[in-house]
Amino acid sequence: MTLNALPAALAALLTVAALPGFAQSAQPALTAYADTLAPLVAAPKVEIDVTAAPAAKPWAERAARLAADWFPHVCQLLATDGFRPPKAMKLTFKPKIGAPAYASGSEITIDSEWIAGHPDDFGMVIHEMTHLIQRYPGSRSTPGWLVEGIADYIRWWRYEPEAPRTPVDPDRAKVTDSYRTTAAFLAWATGRYDRGLVRKLDKACRDRSYKPEIFDQATGKALETLWTEYTDGLRRARGR
Ligand SMILES: [Zn+2]
Repeated sequence: MTLNALPAALAALLTVAALPGFAQSAQPALTAYADTLAPLVAAPKVEIDVTAAPAAKPWAERAARLAADWFPHVCQLLATDGFRPPKAMKLTFKPKIGAPAYASGSEITIDSEWIAGHPDDFGMVIHEMTHLIQRYPGSRSTPGWLVEGIADYIRWWRYEPEAPRTPVDPDRAKVTDSYRTTAAFLAWATGRYDRGLVRKLDKACRDRSYKPEIFDQATGKALETLWTEYTDGLRRARGR
């Protein structure tokens, strides 16, 4: 169909859309709103080791099941060219490890005393499992705040978006605060500008090619501008 054959009202709309002022407004590409996913991959067998904390066994079994259930989805959310999913996963439970949990290689070590006091903290398993899937090569260009921000984005915005969390304080927070703050910002930028933003950032970390300009390329705005826009919105929402 040609423009001439369109009903007059629709043709008028198209004419407005073609005006320079309209075209120059900073709108994301239309494709930015439609994210597509890589094929599902199978989860590896998830081993558990509760030798040092036998009482953790029921929680550990549940965590292993949760990890196996969510592994394919997290891989999908982060899969980019060249991605190879881990072939193994082990959850080891020990007391007094100095942190609620940490990930290394194909193993997640979880503090058995932490889960005794925080039995609802299964989201931590998703966060640590995301680190196993990220497995970014060491690079000075990859910021730690972004690595943790992506892991918490998967946890708080994809696994448990309904869970209560501490709101970001726009007067004190920085985008480099990592964890939930960076995650909340990534979720906002994803919804506002580019549904594939986290995958693009993940790929850059995997390729050792991260630079702040990736935000410009994805959203049309610099990282600092986006952060100001995000925190201004939080202030407006708080003032209501
Ligand atoms: Zn982490």
